[in-house]
Amino acid sequence: MDRYNIIENKNNREIVLLKSFPCFWGKCSFCDYIEDNSLNEDKINKLNYEILNKITGKYKRLEVINSGSCFELPKKTLEKIKSIIYEKNIKILFLESHWAYKDKLEEMKSYFGIPIIFKIGVETFDYNFRNKVLNKNATFKDYNDVLRYFQSVCIMIGIKGQTKEMIQNDMDIILNNFEYATINIFTENTTNIKRDENLIKWFKDSYKFLNHIDKIEVLYENTDFGVGD
Ligand code: SF4
Repeated sequence: MDRYNIIENKNNREIVLLKSFPCFWGKCSFCDYIEDNSLNEDKINKLNYEILNKITGKYKRLEVINSGSCFELPKKTLEKIKSIIYEKNIKILFLESHWAYKDKLEEMKSYFGIPIIFKIGVETFDYNFRNKVLNKNATFKDYNDVLRYFQSVCIMIGIKGQTKEMIQNDMDIILNNFEYATINIFTENTTNIKRDENLIKWFKDSYKFLNHIDKIEVLYENTDFGVGD
């Protein structure tokens, strides 16, 4: 699996996909990447050290993702990230977190001592679809709640049951309110969740202009950041 890449087309940065302890939730209906989680702390740290040693500081911006939240990375991995930040002069860190950890984000900021852009997988701002169909357990009522904590959101597109209206509403919210967003076109995996090809075709035709908007990254395949498998 590729776990290090340099993103050069928008929002230039290095990105690493680290291994972590199990996602505390682990029950989102569309997610099978938690299979990358492990309970073997030594093995996790060993692999993460190898990946983190590839960072050069080329753009002074680093994104760290794991199949879960940054709070599920072992302490030694966090220490290693911190030392790389200072060695390589990283100025901005991008980290992912579930909504449930929202009250711990400030702690993470103080720990690293540099600006952090926190990214959250909201998948959709439609409450019912997010929590009842995707089983996301992200119980905020509207985007203003998210904006209080997070600067970047991930949205999922093209799942059976999703509607054009839901997607249009999600796009309006991210275009008008968030500093960064990642749009993931759903790739079928080992879960029972299915892709809606017609909806995806409609989205690609209607939202081509997103390719020219710097703050929005569209992942047509879930490996488009150059990490994962
Ligand atoms: S919170 Fe993220 S990692 Fe955890 S089950 Fe849901 S999608 Fe998967």
